[in-house]
Amino acid sequence: MRLLLVEDDQLLAEGLSSQLEKAGFSVDIAHTAKEAGVLGEQEDYKAGVLDLGLPDGNGLDVLRRWRANKVAFPVLILTARGDWQDKVNGLKAGADDYLAKPFQTEELIARLNAIMRRSEGRVHSTVKVGRFELDENRQCLQIEDGTEHSLTGTEFRLLRCLMGRPGHIFSKEQLMEQLYNLNESPNENIIEAYIRRLRKLVGAETIATRRGQGYLFNDTV
Ligand code: CA
Repeated sequence: MRLLLVEDDQLLAEGLSSQLEKAGFSVDIAHTAKEAGVLGEQEDYKAGVLDLGLPDGNGLDVLRRWRANKVAFPVLILTARGDWQDKVNGLKAGADDYLAKPFQTEELIARLNAIMRRSEGRVHSTVKVGRFELDENRQCLQIEDGTEHSLTGTEFRLLRCLMGRPGHIFSKEQLMEQLYNLNESPNENIIEAYIRRLRKLVGAETIATRRGQGYLFNDTV
């Protein structure tokens, strides 16, 4: 899942980003309001984390502009502790949740998963398709026969993407976009390698190839 992290504090941004990557996100960092505005409108993010105090403007203005331009991904704002006005203004500007600094990364991740769940209309923290259940808290795959497999960050992201829309064909480019951030430029063959690994877990026929189009998660097998 692509995530946009808007935070001008370089150390905080890098630390957070590596923890978010471990939790299954692929993260782009924007350090300024200007960068955030552009990235939010042009990339396909599943969620955003937005610091309000940015060197070239207020995060709330970025958020208002996104919402005015129909940028719909759920956004969690980072506020100063005790600043209730920021929270209220943030929610009014279109934020989906807030967290006061300093915070525990675990809480941030749990809240991000919750707002993404809501934006997808899900109630549970698992994605269930046919015989398969993906647990986003524990980053593992459970199969009806009782087996359970823990997944690497990339395996989880790829499966999460495919299982999020069973029967839908994803092109390699679309899958690459959800798997990697703007700074990474892996070869497209890597998708094939990961698909092979996932097929060993779910069975070859469960992830089908549509020649020239892409891959789909088959919920009817
Ligand atoms: Ca700041």
